[in-house]
Amino acid sequence: MSKPVSICVIGSGYVGLVAAVCFAEMGHHVACVDNDEAKVKLLREGGAPIFERHLPELLARHRGRGVTFTTDLAGAVEQSEAVFIAVGTPQGDAGAADLSYVEAVVAEIARSIHGYKVIVEKSTVPVYTNEWIRRVLHRRGVDPQSFDVLSNPEFLREGTAIMDFLHPDRIVVGASNERSAEVMRRIYEPLTSGSYYAGPDALPGERSASAPAPLLVTSAQSAEIIKHASNAFLALKISFINAVANLAESVDADIVDIAAGMGMDSRIGPSFLSAGLGYGGSCFPKDVAAFHWVAQQQGVNFQLLDEVRKINETQRQVFFNKVRAALWTLRGKRLGALGLAFKGGTDDIRESPAIHVIQMLLEAGASVTAYDPAAMERARELLPPTEKLSYATDLYAAATDADALLILTDWKEFSEIDLTRLKEVIRFPIVIDGRNLYKPQEMLDHGFTYLSVGRPACYQAEEGRPRKSLM
Ligand code: NAD
Repeated sequence: MSKPVSICVIGSGYVGLVAAVCFAEMGHHVACVDNDEAKVKLLREGGAPIFERHLPELLARHRGRGVTFTTDLAGAVEQSEAVFIAVGTPQGDAGAADLSYVEAVVAEIARSIHGYKVIVEKSTVPVYTNEWIRRVLHRRGVDPQSFDVLSNPEFLREGTAIMDFLHPDRIVVGASNERSAEVMRRIYEPLTSGSYYAGPDALPGERSASAPAPLLVTSAQSAEIIKHASNAFLALKISFINAVANLAESVDADIVDIAAGMGMDSRIGPSFLSAGLGYGGSCFPKDVAAFHWVAQQQGVNFQLLDEVRKINETQRQVFFNKVRAALWTLRGKRLGALGLAFKGGTDDIRESPAIHVIQMLLEAGASVTAYDPAAMERARELLPPTEKLSYATDLYAAATDADALLILTDWKEFSEIDLTRLKEVIRFPIVIDGRNLYKPQEMLDHGFTYLSVGRPACYQAEEGRPRKSLM
């Protein structure tokens, strides 16, 4: 590997923390900064503030050696050649990204630049943020020769964040000159040369020494748009398949077969064609809105993005209606809910469809017992237990005495339920699956009424399928 680079990562959330430990894993010297003192204390003392596969292992390997944790932004910037900004960019007014966290960090960086630095926007930001960072630094009197700003958007997915970072499909760098691009090439060299994958301790994954990660260098504007356009396109795929699922369901077709048939077309591909409750999380909803806002600002009609959002929001209502149709009335009903996280493999509940559905059910007068393998602590903070809402210790406890069991998050654990045991504990054998984790025939064979998304409803013979007018 070429000489290690001293790196400062600002923000120790899902992106910042993962980037920090992965850069350390690649052999660099990293200072990870956060202004949340409790988080930094936890990280220093050996804890991990987020649930992410391989994170504890990499923290154990590099904490206090390749990566240190601090609240001292100025000190960390001073000793670093590259400064990555990885703070939140939540949705602000009218869909625009709220860049106040980024601006606050840039103002602090401005006070700490002594000697050449590459300032890297890793947070997801609208086009021209690069320019704004440059402008803010100028306004604050920083010598233009002493820094470059570039864009290096992050494409990791929560749940597989470490593997995505170390085995990326691509690394995108938006730079205005070769000097700063060169720093990024050095940073990612272990992945682009393949030397990391050849090492004895490398986490094995998709990439290898003979098929290393590609790095695309482009302009800052293009890099910024690559990130927004990628997320918007993935969200579009999800909304598209959900719209097809609603059509499929109304004509007794099967969306799983339809998606399989579509996905076999190499021009379409099989990923992001799973019908369900729609997308959530801290990225897709806000990034679709922010990208739409950017287009509007530029006078470009990108109404398609608003349709993507609308279909996504409708999908939760469609599922809620399905629960109501299966149970007739909801007031006083007791429902088991499997899943709180916005998807399996993470403890992140931001914009989680599961949480939204649970809120709708509670508003309709049902009581809910929820279970999630990783997100219960976070969910408890947002939705504290009440007379109507409780949290179970496992999935069977959530299902015990329930009028129906709802599957809201695609955790692997929820696709491996012991159906015989479930049948024993549940009050009525009704499963309403918002993630299509089971084969309808399998559920029928186990004596369940099974409703899923975009597939024919399966009612036990003695019960009969309700007429449309009864739904
Ligand atoms: P997060 O909310 O998990 O983490 C942000 C961190 O920044 C927090 O720990 C916060 O305390 C810290 N912070 C805020 N202001 C600070 C300051 N002034 N100084 C130091 N630390 C500060 O956010 P995240 O999910 O990691 O996302 C960060 C960015 O990356 C966003 O722009 C997001 O859109 C983007 N992104 C996220 C993902 C994802 O899957 N979460 C994937 C790709 C890109």
